[in-house]
Amino acid sequence: MKRILITGGAGFLGSHLCDRLIDTDNDVLCLDNFFTGSKENVIHLIGNPRFELIRHDIINPIYLEVDEIYNLACPASPVHYQFNAIKTIKTNVMGAINTLGMAKRLKAKILQASTSEVYGDPDVHPQREDYWGRVNPIGIRSCYDEGKRAAECLMMDYHRQNRVAVKIARIFNTYGPRMALHDGRVVSNFIVQALRGEDITVYGDGSQTRSFCFVDDLIEGLIRMMATPDAFLGPVNIGNPDEFRIVDLAEMTIRMTNSPSKIVFRPLPQDDPLQRKPDITLAGEMLGWKPTVPLEKGLKRTIEYFKQQVLTT
Ligand code: NAD
Ligand code: UDP
Repeated sequence: MKRILITGGAGFLGSHLCDRLIDTDNDVLCLDNFFTGSKENVIHLIGNPRFELIRHDIINPIYLEVDEIYNLACPASPVHYQFNAIKTIKTNVMGAINTLGMAKRLKAKILQASTSEVYGDPDVHPQREDYWGRVNPIGIRSCYDEGKRAAECLMMDYHRQNRVAVKIARIFNTYGPRMALHDGRVVSNFIVQALRGEDITVYGDGSQTRSFCFVDDLIEGLIRMMATPDAFLGPVNIGNPDEFRIVDLAEMTIRMTNSPSKIVFRPLPQDDPLQRKPDITLAGEMLGWKPTVPLEKGLKRTIEYFKQQVLTT
């Protein structure tokens, strides 16, 4: 049994990670400032003696005693991370420094939830871990992209300078139950719009691509990454390589929800990457991991979840 800290533990991914780690008999400390996460996501764990919920903002130092740290604290939806861009980059940089300081003090292992956004709008396809990316350092997405790149840099520097056992996982677009109703990311937007019979807002002409990973697969990948020998730091891509055009996702969502909704086209946001697909060869070799849930199956489970949410709000 380990004592494990999850920063951003009340968010979409963090709450699923709490569940999985408690199910495997660990003690979980879930730290969150509830900016995009909610108590609702972890309410079923409150009262469980293996679970503690801590309201804290990770830009400030905190002293806890743990064996492992998953650093997930950071809004992930472009709408939310651009809402207070300065706060986003502070969360990434100060959050990494504070959790790395904790890992150093405790000789604890730390896993950084990095992102495919470190590749920016990529001119290499699919993206492998040794690709350095094509990121605009001064655009509206840079608070997130550059924040995550700085966090990776800090992970590596703490490792080289202080021998901290670090792990970097580059997460590609992940979806599933417990995404917030107003999250703003594409899968939740389309499902909620379709269930409400509202227009489906495709940005640009919808020919840009993303590769969608179901949350259960992603969590399995993170846990396997944490369990690798200390010598393996990553970065490792974790995502589903099945690539879809956004307009095809819109059509699939309409079909699967039997919705009367129509597709409408809206301007493409600045610096929106045109294509994205992970090369997951390294995850296969080092973690023995590959995704198992195809998009249609994962969407079905996500639609069921949002049906309940839409009914009760
Ligand atoms: P989310 O927004 O649902 O969760 C983020 C959580 O962090 C929320 O609970 C939020 O309240 C909390 N948080 C934000 N700022 C904080 C702060 N300063 N102090 C403490 N808590 C704070 O997003 P998610 O999809 O669960 O993403 C989790 C992590 O995974 C993020 O770091 C994100 O960048 C990364 N990631 C996610 C995806 C994805 O597709 N879901 C893709 C790439 C990377
Ligand atoms: N998108 C869209 N309609 C929406 C929300 C997003 O067409 O209502 C597009 C967005 O422009 C991007 C893709 O869907 O090309 C994925 O967007 P998301 O915000 O989910 O994540 P990103 O991968 O861009 O961080």
